[in-house]
Amino acid sequence: MVPVATFKGANVAVFGLGGSGLATCAALKAGGARVIAFDDSSISLEKAAAAGYETADLRGIDWSSVAALVLAPGVPLTHPAPHWSVGLAQANGVEVVGDIELFCRERRATAPSAPFIAITGTNGKSTTTALITHILARTARDAQMGGNIGTAILSLEPPAKGRFHVIECSSFQIDLTPSIDPSVGLCLNVTPDHLDRHGTLDDYAAVKERLIAGIQPGGTAVIGVDDRHSQAMADRAERAGRTVVRVSIRNPLSDGLHLDGADIVRMKAGAMVHRFSVARVGALRGTHNAQNAMAAYAACEALGLAGDEIVRAMMSFPGLPHRMEQVGRIGKVLFVNDSKATNADSTEKALAAFSDIYWIAGGKPKEGGIAPLARFFPRIRKSYLIGSSAEEFAVTLGGNPHVIAGTLDKAVAMAAADAAADGAADPVVLLSPACASYDQFPNFEVRGKAFRDLVLAMPGIEKA
Ligand code: ADP
Repeated sequence: MVPVATFKGANVAVFGLGGSGLATCAALKAGGARVIAFDDSSISLEKAAAAGYETADLRGIDWSSVAALVLAPGVPLTHPAPHWSVGLAQANGVEVVGDIELFCRERRATAPSAPFIAITGTNGKSTTTALITHILARTARDAQMGGNIGTAILSLEPPAKGRFHVIECSSFQIDLTPSIDPSVGLCLNVTPDHLDRHGTLDDYAAVKERLIAGIQPGGTAVIGVDDRHSQAMADRAERAGRTVVRVSIRNPLSDGLHLDGADIVRMKAGAMVHRFSVARVGALRGTHNAQNAMAAYAACEALGLAGDEIVRAMMSFPGLPHRMEQVGRIGKVLFVNDSKATNADSTEKALAAFSDIYWIAGGKPKEGGIAPLARFFPRIRKSYLIGSSAEEFAVTLGGNPHVIAGTLDKAVAMAAADAAADGAADPVVLLSPACASYDQFPNFEVRGKAFRDLVLAMPGIEKA
């Protein structure tokens, strides 16, 4: 845990008592603050009380004695409208911050030169965060991974010399971290997403840019420059005197990292200093993952690792569960769990990464369904449709081979049998639903686990 001593002796209100909220309460308490915890859900409130935290309706407290409101990232700060607790804090001149802000203040106070790697972007944050952590851990470094991925930041070990904090930051979290100051800051890409919470795309990009603008003096910015906002962000960071490493999967760069065929090339001042490939790393299939791999390389390089050791460590990256996760093989048939793909955009990445696909798709459909994926239909040998979208997707697939399987177990059995009979060299049974899971499963994790369990129970399976 990171005890938060910067609020020692002060009253701090905490709103939003999920995992990170409770971790915040614990860290504040350990640092000597008095915590007043609240949540709109009575279940969360009871949990906090049972854990020994003082709870009180923040509508009834004396705000003049409160030093800060710590807000959980899921609670609206600005859009569509500030949460009532934010309104109360602001009306009383009380600052509103998140748990990553508490971490930043603690790090500045106790270990300002401890490496702090912060990762943002619309897509690829978790993969890049996990990949950087994997590279650091593989090369025998003390790597602490958290933030928007897995563990709450304040539940990690405290910042210290030689300890690397690798922190995934959503825009919501950056919004709540006014003094974010990583030693290495990454912005992978900026594309429209979550605009309900940030207003316009320009506003959303401006939030992400704060992570880059805050980078410590002497620190490094790593930016994927394939979209207009990120490109401008890189130019501004450079003008502000930051070291900027640009990454592109679209255009060659004389300084930075880019793709040359299937290879990744590291250029410095017009000269190639390293050339490598991640094509053999199953968990890094696809061009989008090349962007993640380049960004991770640049970050680790900025942290002082040698190019060769970075690439060697990358080769054993196991990937994240439910994101193009290779579950196993039966003979030549590969089974891939991409349950995290809950929209057509994400599924597109998976369909682009394979050919001879036996595609399991469907669930609770998003607007537009699978129509945007039509150009990939020729790669699909057959589709196995599940969930409430089945009829709609069958219409979109038209004359392309498909069957309404209904449930995941039937789809897996049918797809496995068809793929086994295929003459192609690398047939793939791919769960990449392009849909939310809620019609048949509690969430995408449970759906992915169900797929994995079904596959691993099949005779002849070799675990990947
Ligand atoms: P995030 O944490 O930002 O949601 P993940 O690493 O969990 O990102 O990846 C989620 C999905 O986004 C993946 O399944 C893939 O379809 C897509 N994706 C991953 N990396 C990228 C990238 N660099 N660019 C575009 N899409 C990506």
